[in-house]
Amino acid sequence: MARLPARRALLAAVLGVSWQQRLLGHHVVPAAWRRRRFSAGSRAEDSCPVTPMLKHLMFKIKSTGPITVAEYMREVLTNPVKGYYMHHDMLGERGDFVTSPEISQIFGELIGIWYVSEWMATGKPKTFQLVELGPGRGTLTDDILRVFNQLGSLLNKCDISIHLVEVSPKLSEIQALTLTGGKIQPELDVTSPVYMKGISKAGIPIFWYRELQDVPQGTSFYLAHEFFDALPIHKFQRTEKGWREVLIDIDPEAPDQLRFVLAPSTTPATELFIQRKEVRDHVEVCPDAGILIQRLACRIQEDGGAALIADYGHNGNKTDTFRSFRSHELHDALTAPGTADLTADVDFSYLRTMTQGRVATLGPLNQHEFLKNMGIDVRLQVLLQNSSDKAMHKHLLQGYDMLMNPKKMGDRFHFFALLPHQRLAHSDQKVNLRHSRSLSATVAGFGELVWK
Ligand code: SAH
Repeated sequence: MARLPARRALLAAVLGVSWQQRLLGHHVVPAAWRRRRFSAGSRAEDSCPVTPMLKHLMFKIKSTGPITVAEYMREVLTNPVKGYYMHHDMLGERGDFVTSPEISQIFGELIGIWYVSEWMATGKPKTFQLVELGPGRGTLTDDILRVFNQLGSLLNKCDISIHLVEVSPKLSEIQALTLTGGKIQPELDVTSPVYMKGISKAGIPIFWYRELQDVPQGTSFYLAHEFFDALPIHKFQRTEKGWREVLIDIDPEAPDQLRFVLAPSTTPATELFIQRKEVRDHVEVCPDAGILIQRLACRIQEDGGAALIADYGHNGNKTDTFRSFRSHELHDALTAPGTADLTADVDFSYLRTMTQGRVATLGPLNQHEFLKNMGIDVRLQVLLQNSSDKAMHKHLLQGYDMLMNPKKMGDRFHFFALLPHQRLAHSDQKVNLRHSRSLSATVAGFGELVWK
């Protein structure tokens, strides 16, 4: 694959426009100003930005008033009929963004090794459910399964199954093709939460669900790569009158356009999500992420396993990170909704708080360090030695640079893990491991991989 600027990595760096700037004056964003700063665009929708999604949202706003940013994100990304994720493939060179697993096979292979290493560290349980949230094209799981296959002698007595949580019919079709070569069956039992099933190329059963709650309980290893950033956020602004939620309304001066406004008074979300000790002037909160992490923490506490979450994010210190990408360029989040990705940085400190001490947490640790600890340099050398093809060498080296260079993805992406307390400490000790180097060193990626 050609070396591309990664949506959520490189372009975040050039994010020159803050949300506050967009709210200047009377909450109006001049159209010419917006166009100057964002991608000029060359798609059909650019000449006619009144997309079906925009019409749908305008109807909604006219009926019930301005909507929250969370409702906007949810509708734009996952509305079953017109949502951005639902009916097209947005990943890769010809799409809107590219992700680490799509850049280099090494990424998925090292993640595969992480799961085998954790499975071994937890006493090699007899069943192994790998649960991926938002699997995109299925590339990451495919690379992980290749590692499982290569380590067959270790895993041969283990009952492995794959469980994919995916809302997009289009992407689940692509995942099925990647992972099974097309050998799938729709689930005919209407009472089953599984909507599709298949068998991987190496004979491992694969199941598709719409929600995590539908995945059967049991020792599970969870994976979420660039998934949490797609979940809907609420935005809040500190004002002289106190905190106000940011809403989205129709621009009265340009009736085909949307604009940000502030709620005239406090909303239930403001009361619920703004902490008394908050020092920032602008805050983004993702309650869906909070609920999801609680569910993961409960499952790991009850059944064992582990979760690995990788995304760009921060530790509760960033403010305005809501943005949109189209064709690998920044795009105005309120223009032509449904034709571009929407995203916000993950607040790892919020995720940690929401686990409520049920599990131990590790990270966030930047991608550069995590992959280094996982042995990326050794793996790169092996692949280079195994090939004499110059184009392959170039591809591998470019992929490595993209993943590891601190100015590219190396510093912007972070790894965060949930583990049962007993995995890291004596059973009577509950630990939060952000500052405990010695304990985190026993977990691959957060410390050096011992098993190579
Ligand atoms: N993990 C992949 C794809 C990231 S894009 C990679 O790194 O390449 C986000 C993925 O999450 C897509 O597969 C999208 O369809 C899925 N997704 C987004 N919101 C979702 C939701 N609420 N529930 C389930 N899947 C969702």
